[in-house]
Amino acid sequence: MSRFFSKRHSQLEPYTPGEQPQDRRYIKLNTNESPFPPSPGVSAAVEKEASKLQLYSDPESRELIRALADTYSLEPDELIVGNGSDELLNFAFMAWCDGQHPALFPDISYGFYPVFAQLNRVPFEEIPLLEDFSICVDEYVSHSGTVFLANPNAPTGLLKSCSEIERLLRSDPDRIVVVDEAYIDFALSRDGDSASMLSRIRDYDNLLVIQTFSKSRSLAGGRLGFAAGNPVLIRDLNTLKYSTNPYNVNRMTAAAGIAALREGEYYQGNAAKIIRTRTETADSLRRLGFTVTDSQSNFLFVRSDRVSGDTLYRELKARGILVRHFDKARIRDHLRITVGSDGQMHALLRELDQILCECSTYTQNGK
Ligand SMILES: *Cc1c(COP(=O)(O)O)cnc(C)c1O
Repeated sequence: MSRFFSKRHSQLEPYTPGEQPQDRRYIKLNTNESPFPPSPGVSAAVEKEASKLQLYSDPESRELIRALADTYSLEPDELIVGNGSDELLNFAFMAWCDGQHPALFPDISYGFYPVFAQLNRVPFEEIPLLEDFSICVDEYVSHSGTVFLANPNAPTGLLKSCSEIERLLRSDPDRIVVVDEAYIDFALSRDGDSASMLSRIRDYDNLLVIQTFSKSRSLAGGRLGFAAGNPVLIRDLNTLKYSTNPYNVNRMTAAAGIAALREGEYYQGNAAKIIRTRTETADSLRRLGFTVTDSQSNFLFVRSDRVSGDTLYRELKARGILVRHFDKARIRDHLRITVGSDGQMHALLRELDQILCECSTYTQNGK
């Protein structure tokens, strides 16, 4: 850090994104990107918009917000779009956390939450997940503060039911609950109802739901997310948006988002494929002796009791497969593996099978 860097930020530990190495071609299963390209209308829309780049984008993103409102049966004033959902999450920390309202989130969840809390200099408390990695809603009920829940949670993949989240919302109407639904399009709820809280924002004026186009809509590189909630909450977020970056969603990304919403069936089909591949891959991994959580997202969270997480990560990387490994005590032996195409999953299973064999041989030889 330079001698000019503000003392205000000297303790900041930035978020570590999944690696994007350029040294060779990898099968990338480390950042939960989609294995499928955007729908055909997206590139056409982006190309058309590129000829207007001398003009600023619409700061209100009216056309995009209208398309979202139509898709989800919401009103435009219940929506805001952002430069990735990360931007909107940051706004939520800025808006609703302070000395009186610490940020509360699980000890194992999206790595950006503690970074946003530190960046905005707000206190935060990490509430431990239960032994089985599930979220204990009662723990949140008994703490005061602004709650951030990824649902399904990352990197565990576990889904909390809407009724449990509603119990938390009702327990204190003066507490805001932000539900980060980055992976919701891959979730199957137990009762067959939608797993998303989007349809309930009118029931709770203390609920904000955030979603992204990065995962199920194959637009990670476009940077587009949205939040839905009571118009008063959306106004808070807009105050922060207009105080930082009024043109936060650029023209090409807005055009891409509108085209993607128009071609919704393509993405629903892709999500269904990923769910099918997830089930098959989880079964195969269990047959290889891995412990696998009941993931409702586009990644699997797995552990071998024979080989450490670090060894698996390094061996896979040496064989051209990138997965995510976290250096955090509780999950050091776990890997988070993005569900890719069937071909990618076959390659993964083949390599893991070999690694397990070789590692047992090492053990037998006492190496
Ligand atoms: C990927 C992810 C996001 C952020 O996505 P953007 O690319 O910024 O839209 C937010 N929350 C969770 C839990 C994620 O995994």
